[in-house]
Amino acid sequence: MADRQASDKPSDKKLQIIPLGGLGEFGMNSMAIRYGEDIIVVDAGMMFPDAELMGVDIVTPDFTYLEQNSEHVRGLILTHGHEDHIGGIPFLLAQLNVPIYGTAFTLALVERRLEEHEMLDEARLNIVKPGEKLALGPFSIEFIHVTHSLVSCVALAITTPLGVIVHTGDFKVDPTPTDNQLFDLHTLAEYGKRGVLLLLSDSTNVDRPGYTESERAVAPRLEDLFVRSPRRLIISCFSSSIHRLQTILDLAEEHGRKVAFLGRSMMATTEIAHDLGLLRVPNGVLLRPQDLMSTTPNKVVAVVSGTQGEPMSAMSRVAVDNHKSLTIQPGDVVALSARIIPGNEKAIYRMMNHIARRGADLVYGTMNPPIHVSGHGSAEELRLVLNLVRPRYFVPIHGEYRQLARHAQLAQHLSHVGLQDTFLLESGATLEIDRHGARRGETVPVGRICIDSGTLDEVVEDMVIRDRRHLSEDGFVLPIIAIDKNTGRCEGLPEIVSRGFMALEDSPEVLQEARQVVLKTLENSSAEERTDWGVMQEKIRADLKRYLTKQTQRRPLIMPVILEV
Ligand SMILES: [Zn+2]
Ligand SMILES: [Zn+2]
Repeated sequence: MADRQASDKPSDKKLQIIPLGGLGEFGMNSMAIRYGEDIIVVDAGMMFPDAELMGVDIVTPDFTYLEQNSEHVRGLILTHGHEDHIGGIPFLLAQLNVPIYGTAFTLALVERRLEEHEMLDEARLNIVKPGEKLALGPFSIEFIHVTHSLVSCVALAITTPLGVIVHTGDFKVDPTPTDNQLFDLHTLAEYGKRGVLLLLSDSTNVDRPGYTESERAVAPRLEDLFVRSPRRLIISCFSSSIHRLQTILDLAEEHGRKVAFLGRSMMATTEIAHDLGLLRVPNGVLLRPQDLMSTTPNKVVAVVSGTQGEPMSAMSRVAVDNHKSLTIQPGDVVALSARIIPGNEKAIYRMMNHIARRGADLVYGTMNPPIHVSGHGSAEELRLVLNLVRPRYFVPIHGEYRQLARHAQLAQHLSHVGLQDTFLLESGATLEIDRHGARRGETVPVGRICIDSGTLDEVVEDMVIRDRRHLSEDGFVLPIIAIDKNTGRCEGLPEIVSRGFMALEDSPEVLQEARQVVLKTLENSSAEERTDWGVMQEKIRADLKRYLTKQTQRRPLIMPVILEV
C-alpha cells in the first residue's frame, strides 16, 4: 500500500460525497461528488410512487443542492439507462442545464425522455465509450463496462487529487452475457492494485447468497415455452431488457414464430436498440401488431410492456381484453418474465387474475425454474468486486438501510487488506475526505419531489402541500359511481360532489357535462374492466382531469369513489 499516495500532491481541499437519492431508499439514484468548488453528479433517477401517494405519477430527488451550487456543477455522468438512474433528468435540467455524459444507448433513452418534455434542443449530450477517459475540472473519469440487465452499462473510476473513487453503478458479474460483452473486471482490478480511496457499490441483492444466474439461463426456459405452447405465446418483460428481447427474437426465428412488439415503451426501446446495432432483428421475423390476430396462433409471439400491472400499460389492457391488437384466447400461454417490484404486488396479482380468467396458461417469474433472473449481483459477486477494488473507504449505495448495513458487514474482512472505515450514509448525509482521512460531514437538504403526469409545471413539494394547495386553490371533485355488482352496469348517472372547485359549483352546465364524461368512460370500458376498481378509478381520474383542465384551466384533486350496489 506504500505507493498508494505516491503520485498525489498534498491537497488542502476536501472531497465530499453527497447522496441526493437512492441511499436508504429504493430508486431515484443520484449522487453529487464535490472537490473544492467543483461538482460532478452521477445519475439522476426517479422512482415510481407507492399507492398511498395517490394521484402522483413520478417521484424525483430534490435537486435544490445542485441548483444552489449551479455554477460549480461540471456535468452529469450516467452509469446506465434505467429509469431509477435517468428518469429525473428532465426535472434536473429544468433547474440547471448541465452537460450530460453517457454511452450512446443510455443517451438515446435520455433523448426520448427529453423529447417528451420538449427539452432536447437545449440539452448538451456527450457520448462516451467504455475505456475512454473524460476530464471535468479536477476529476478524470474512466468508464468501465459492467454487465447488468440492460446493455451499455458502465462503472466509473473517478480520479481526484485525493485518490480514486470507484462507483459501480448497477451490476451483476455475468460470466456469459448474451451480447458477449464481458464485465471489465481487469480494469477494476488494475485500479484496485494501484489503490482506491473510496468504493461506492450497488447493494440491491446483498441479501441473496451465492451468485445471480446468468441472463443466458433464461433462454432454455423461454425456449421451453416456445416448444410447448400450442397456440399464441404472449411474453411480458421490461422494455429495457434488451438481452431478453434478443433471446426472444432469436428463439422466434429458430421456432418459426413471428414477433409483434406491443406497448409504447416496448416499440420505442426496441427501435433505439436496433438503430444502435444492439438488437439484432432476424429478417422477416417482425409482425405488425394489427396482424397478430389474423396470423396462425402457433406462429406468433407477442412481446408486451407492462409487467408491473400499471393500469394504462399494454399488458394491463390486454389482461382486461381492451387492447386493439391482441385478445387472449383459451390455451394461449402468457409469461410474465420480470420480477415483482415491491409495492406492485396488488396490481400485478389483479392483472394475473384477469389473464387467468381469459383461460390462458399463466407462467410467471417466481415459478421454478424461473423465467426471470435478476440484473443485480448477489453476495458473492459483491464480495468479488470488494476484493478486486480493495478500497480504503467503503460506502454501500443503491438500497434500503437494511441492505446497506448488510453490504457493510460483507466488507469487514477487508480490514486486513487496507479497509479503514465503512460509512452507512442515507440520502442527505455526506461524507468528507481530506488528506487526514474520512468522516461524516454536514447534511444537505434532500427529499422527494412528487410530480403529476410527468410534466414540469406540476412539480409539488410533497403530498401534504400538494393536497393542501389543491384543496385551497382548486378544491376537490368526487365522482361517485354506483355499479351493480351483478351486471357491472352503472346505476343511473354518476354523481359529482365538489368542494372549493368554483368552476363546477357555479356552472351547472360544466357539472352536467362532467357527469356525462364519467358515464362515457364507464360505457367505453369492458365489463371486466368495470369490475376492476383500480383500473376504473385511474381511467375516470384521467378522463375527468383532461376534461376539467380543458374547460376550466384548473386542476382540482379528483378522487373517484366506486360503490358496489
Ligand atoms: Zn439498473
Ligand atoms: Zn438501479
